[in-house]
Amino acid sequence: MAEVRARGVIIKQSDYGEGHRMLTVFTEEYGIVKAVSYGVKKTKSKSASSQFLCYGDFEFFKNTNKDIMTIKSIDTLDGFFSICEDIKKLALSVYLSDITYELLGMNNPDSRLLHVFLNSIYALAYKNEDVQKIKTVYELKLMCIGGYMPSIHSCASCGSGAVSAFDLLKGGMVCRQCGGKYLINMDKNLFMALQYISESEDKRMLSFNAGTDILKRLNTLTEQYISLQLDRNFPSLDYYKAMLDM
Ligand SMILES: [Zn+2]
Repeated sequence: MAEVRARGVIIKQSDYGEGHRMLTVFTEEYGIVKAVSYGVKKTKSKSASSQFLCYGDFEFFKNTNKDIMTIKSIDTLDGFFSICEDIKKLALSVYLSDITYELLGMNNPDSRLLHVFLNSIYALAYKNEDVQKIKTVYELKLMCIGGYMPSIHSCASCGSGAVSAFDLLKGGMVCRQCGGKYLINMDKNLFMALQYISESEDKRMLSFNAGTDILKRLNTLTEQYISLQLDRNFPSLDYYKAMLDM
């Protein structure tokens, strides 16, 4: 068995058997990997470090003939515990993890996406940002990084510069002639927010002001854009929205 070291964050956990836990870890070096943590309920420290959103240095044992590794140790750098105490933030983190997994898949390293994910989790845990702002910004950045950057300045269909609305299916702004069934109306403020997030440096992605109304419309746009482009729904999004309405 080979030993593998990686820095990463746990994006999914599920308990099984006699106190074991299956972990999905988004690592810098290997992308998203799966690993089993045995006997997590026996020791408190092991249980705490094998939790959802635990960020740290992982040591794995790797079997040559198996995809799933075994956790040897986890050296925690941050547990983001304040998120787990807030049901809205926790529900949002589960959804953000789901869309990340869906887009990236297994064993596909993407350092840029990992850092955007971690910045979003950090903002949820420690910064006084609107959760809806963190959600929509991550959704759009994820799509931009994952190869679904929307066309902003020219029609996604014909290339004309006279764009007027956002077409969710065609993948960006479109002109009046090209607009299809999945149009979202635009105004200047919504367009500026869309442009800012798409084109801003990752570390400045939350550094803009937008009112509640713009954030609401932007959230509708980005979540529907993901759902249509990836052709699936996310139950964790429905759960998050139910928590948000409480
Ligand atoms: Zn057009």
